[in-house]
Amino acid sequence: MFKVLKTVKKACPICEAERELQFGNRSERLKIRDEDITVESKVYFCPIGKHYFHDIDDEEEKFQKAYREYRNRKNLLQPKDIKQIREKYGFSQRAFTRFLGWGEITIQRYEAGALQDVAHNSLLFFIRDFNNFKQLFQIRKSQLSKRDINKIEKSLSELESKMYQVAFNFMFKAAIIEKPKLPIRNFALKIKPTIPTQYIKGIINYIPIEQKGELALAA
Ligand SMILES: [Zn+2]
Repeated sequence: MFKVLKTVKKACPICEAERELQFGNRSERLKIRDEDITVESKVYFCPIGKHYFHDIDDEEEKFQKAYREYRNRKNLLQPKDIKQIREKYGFSQRAFTRFLGWGEITIQRYEAGALQDVAHNSLLFFIRDFNNFKQLFQIRKSQLSKRDINKIEKSLSELESKMYQVAFNFMFKAAIIEKPKLPIRNFALKIKPTIPTQYIKGIINYIPIEQKGELALAA
């Protein structure tokens, strides 16, 4: 169905002549891999030649819409998710694609909206998990330059700090704030095997001043 929004005088690329064209919305059914997807797009209609055509940008937008819908149906990552995974670990597009062993501009294309390969999607989904990523990093880091390795290792240690901090705050609140009778020193000793000393020191901010000494002893 075509819904006219306005009429414009413009060159029709099919007639190769200036025409009084109708511009509006039309739904169109597209075949994206194994799925039929209906999307609405902006389109011109030439009443003389009785044909439809798109501006390049509207054509692109039409496919982007269809791909987004396809990814939703198939539970695939969206381009913004892929970018987020890459940036979380501190990769440039080029280093990330090298690390994954893919073609040179693969990640660039995916982030720009190209529909990803399903096997590629599975790998990205797998390494979205920090611990999975760390395992793959040990195996694949030799593909990267020394400088990139340092950069990623720095990101990993920052991420780890944040994760410890979150876990620690949670445990701290549970053990100290909600059960204020529990001695701080016991608590700190108890979690010490699972959380490095430097993070135990981080909770000092939460502690009433008269108890800080006790915690410092435990740390
Ligand atoms: Zn025409």
